[in-house]
Amino acid sequence: MDKKQLQKFIQWLQEKNYIVIGPTKEDGQILIKTISESSQLDFSGQLPLYSFKKYLVPSREILFKYKKDDFKADLTAFKQALIGVSIFDLKAILLYNQVFEKDPYYQARLNNTLIIGQSQIPQFQNLSFKVWEDKYEEDILEHLQFDIFLGQAKEKKSSEFKIFTGSKKGQQILNDFAKQSGWKSDFEHVEYAGPIKEEGANPEMMKIKEKMPGSLETDIWQNLDQRCIECGKCTIVCPTCFCFSLTDQPCLNKDEGMRKRCWDSCFYSEFSEITGGHKFLKNTAERIYNWYYHKFVRIPDEYNFPGCVGCGRCSMVCPAGIKIHEVLESIKTK
Ligand code: SF4
Ligand code: SF4
Repeated sequence: MDKKQLQKFIQWLQEKNYIVIGPTKEDGQILIKTISESSQLDFSGQLPLYSFKKYLVPSREILFKYKKDDFKADLTAFKQALIGVSIFDLKAILLYNQVFEKDPYYQARLNNTLIIGQSQIPQFQNLSFKVWEDKYEEDILEHLQFDIFLGQAKEKKSSEFKIFTGSKKGQQILNDFAKQSGWKSDFEHVEYAGPIKEEGANPEMMKIKEKMPGSLETDIWQNLDQRCIECGKCTIVCPTCFCFSLTDQPCLNKDEGMRKRCWDSCFYSEFSEITGGHKFLKNTAERIYNWYYHKFVRIPDEYNFPGCVGCGRCSMVCPAGIKIHEVLESIKTK
């Protein structure tokens, strides 16, 4: 598919009522926004500061409203096409798909979302690092969940994409597009073979998993305790962070109110607080240790693959200059 056909495809998706969202350059920054034509897309390989996660789990949402016996959960989701999802972010979506597997709000959104990946390997200001022992290009596609993938057409002109599908939905959409637009249907289907298992993780990451437990008393966390200001920015930009809080908001009218879900951060002091005031994570050292422990020990144990995709966004935004690859290095060598 060349760029002209991609433009036609985007227009066709819009005619089919899809909101098309992708990386676009504004004032030198790559932002993920709604676009109207393919020329707005930035496929330079620069990683957007934010991932696509808010399109699958919004930063704030009303889960349901109630009024006496009348209970309304809003599961409507509009059709959206997320285009230009990098391999980093496809790996993060893989984790989200597992974490929110039984979440009806997430599933409603996912069912109405067309995920279109792209094979540019973004380097985020040299802050990205290798977590999985791969591959990064088409040879990892069988381990990712996507609908359509814009691969690099090595043997063709560089302005063309080699198209892959990863789902029935992707196949159906491309077949319909071909029928209605005259595009010569040309794609390869990749059957999902499940996530790369923990054995596929970089051996260096496995070392971190072994060394993390019992390391709380080391200088690493005490030093970070002095630097981290608990702003939570790293968790907001991280494509794999998924913690949220639930708030019940009763109205003054009797038997009426709503429940809301909002992104939360384990760096916030109240995050681990329970009724009576006890906090399971008592200080900054414990909170930052918990963040690393969750990504590099608990998530691999629970889901059998790493909880960090190595994008480097957290290092980019940290006002205290904490770089995750440096922290990981010190854990490895402790
Ligand atoms: S922890 Fe940092 S490097 Fe890892 S996925 Fe999150 S933002 Fe990216
Ligand atoms: S961005 Fe940096 S300072 Fe802010 S919570 Fe994360 S590690 Fe701490």
